[in-house]
Amino acid sequence: MSFGRFDFSDNVMYLKGVGPRRAASLEKLNIVTKYDLLTHYPRAYENHSSLTKIRDVIEGETAVIVGQIFNITSREVRNLTIINAWIGDGTGYLQLTWFNQKYLLTKLRDGMRLLVIGKAKYDKWAQGLAMSQIQSFTILDDGEEPELGIMPIYPSTAAMTQKAFRTAMKNLLDQMPTLSETLPQEVIREQDLISYDEAIRAIHFPKNYADLDAARRRLAFEELFLIQCGLMLIKRQTQDDRLGISHKRNGKLVKAALEKLPFELTKDQQKVFRDVVKDMGSKLPMRRLIQGDVGSGKTAVAFLALVKTVENGYQGAFMAPTEILAIQHYEKFSALLGDLGIRVGLLSAKVTRLKRTKDEIYQKISAHELDIVIGTHALIQEGVQFDKLGLVVTDEQHRFGVAQRSTLEKKSDTLPDMLVMTATPIPRTMTLTVYGDLDVSVIKELPPGRKPIKTLVRNMRSRRKVYDFVRTEILAGRQAYVVCPLIERSESEMLADIESAEEIFSTLSNGLFRDVPCALLHGRMKPREKDEIMEKFRDGETKLLVSTTVIEVGVDVPNASVMVVEHAERFGLAQLHQLRGRVGRGSEKSYCVLISDSKADIAKARLETMEATNDGFKLAEEDLKLRGPGQFFGESQHGLPDLKIADVFRDLELLIQARNAADKFINDDTNLDYFPELQYNLEIAYGDKFNAMRQS
Ligand code: ADP
Ligand code: MG
Repeated sequence: MSFGRFDFSDNVMYLKGVGPRRAASLEKLNIVTKYDLLTHYPRAYENHSSLTKIRDVIEGETAVIVGQIFNITSREVRNLTIINAWIGDGTGYLQLTWFNQKYLLTKLRDGMRLLVIGKAKYDKWAQGLAMSQIQSFTILDDGEEPELGIMPIYPSTAAMTQKAFRTAMKNLLDQMPTLSETLPQEVIREQDLISYDEAIRAIHFPKNYADLDAARRRLAFEELFLIQCGLMLIKRQTQDDRLGISHKRNGKLVKAALEKLPFELTKDQQKVFRDVVKDMGSKLPMRRLIQGDVGSGKTAVAFLALVKTVENGYQGAFMAPTEILAIQHYEKFSALLGDLGIRVGLLSAKVTRLKRTKDEIYQKISAHELDIVIGTHALIQEGVQFDKLGLVVTDEQHRFGVAQRSTLEKKSDTLPDMLVMTATPIPRTMTLTVYGDLDVSVIKELPPGRKPIKTLVRNMRSRRKVYDFVRTEILAGRQAYVVCPLIERSESEMLADIESAEEIFSTLSNGLFRDVPCALLHGRMKPREKDEIMEKFRDGETKLLVSTTVIEVGVDVPNASVMVVEHAERFGLAQLHQLRGRVGRGSEKSYCVLISDSKADIAKARLETMEATNDGFKLAEEDLKLRGPGQFFGESQHGLPDLKIADVFRDLELLIQARNAADKFINDDTNLDYFPELQYNLEIAYGDKFNAMRQS
């Protein structure tokens, strides 16, 4: 995007106050261009509007003080470095304390001037007020006046100070011409929004809190509006005038499949299957999402729907997020419903690697010699063409996006029905955003006979006992997972205490589990290597699997009865729940042990919630409450643009307004060509896929 001679795609390096070194630090934060910087929004603000004289600091209240420091000392207490210094401003003195920030010793010097924000408390050693809860501080250069006002705090790393960030941002805003408007005027008027230019400037440097609110509201609205417009366009696209397939009432084949299944459907499964049958019977194309916890039996319902489409003379496609899962589904389908005369094929990278096998399967698909094709992304490759596609199932767990789904739908001249499954518990309010274009069915109840997984939280001191227990389970013939947050030890100070998967693997496999087949699995391995390791674990050859969260997605190893999560505080609740779902799939009682030494209240509360409940939906809601906004979207890849400012919980009201506004705007048959900025943003947000879709 360019505005006159100012080019936003310019590298940040060319910005005054940045230079190559800071540019490298910024790149670690995914900031490469000026535009990236401009849209790197503050994560919080600090009110520096009024300074407090040290004399007037009140115990227990947050104060902003400026003074000179002296008497810097440090000592080691057990493993903790404690740094002390005094600060004085001519009206009084106060002691400052920093815990465990050894690197500060190289930064702080006697006589330096600091701006410090924190809460002071009476301290008997200091015989006066002392600040040991320092929220933040800035080193002021000689003669530099502290900046007052509402200060942005940016998501950053140790290498890029807040001060440097603010300077770079100020320079950018100063250089930048007035930004053109990105929303239609009519929407701005109706929603009473401030302009894009005002909002961008105020989100970084608000004059006051009212200013900040207006900026936040404008930008949050825009994000939500953009998402909703995209969803509406996609919906309109797929809902064009063509009618879908009207499947006939369940006949012999579906009934035979129901009888073949080695279990009775649960009440929830029956209800969801009824929803699906009803949709499939309608001339309108089915667009349905099945939400249900891991193991709740979604796939079983999807299998039945696939059988139904085959019964009606159509083909079915089932897209899984990984190769392992595709193979697993393929084997499961063959085991459960294999002898009904349905021809099932597998299409994944493994199959398509060889040109000959690839051509062969492509040919079989287009000649309708296969009734059901189960696969990965390979299904949406160019060249795959179905004869008569009647149903598309995607098992997405957030790995596919809206656009990919609709690519698959286009693989045939028919307008297939569509079923999406997700195991990520998405609270109701959120489905509106992420899956705004789908109807939702929920499976809450688990199949009978499942033993609930026992979850325990343990600290580092009990670690040995935990692993003794893991050993007992393995010697009794079962298998175990150990999950770690990092692959290798990090150089960042913040993560320096975290043992990596590599280290833990080495300790365990050379120590307590010397005589047990162990393996290490992580995301940086080649897919083929990962598959091999996973296969060995699934076949029971490997007993102990140390891994990063790559195992999060759906692998099914019923013999695994224990999961240990190291540094459990590093994971979100939804993620822990997904991980926990890897055990408890067999007949043995299963355990999930969360190891954590975190003292933070939020971390403790989260882990206790894990101990207390197995209900994924409850956890997802707790997670959002505890972690606050933004996180949910940040971590998942649902193919929708990330939300940088809007928070679908706090901004539910705004979300509904944005939805209504988008509905009106899009369904007024607006010609998007008149709104180049909006169109441009939609294209950025939804990528080329979306663009292609608009033209088709
Ligand atoms: P999901 O797709 O929701 O993770 P699956 O459909 O794969 O769940 O089911 C998990 C396991 O439970 C599978 O082994 C499946 O065969 C079994 N299962 C599914 N439905 C039932 C049921 N109603 N009763 C007993 N077992 C079931
Ligand atoms: Mg239909």
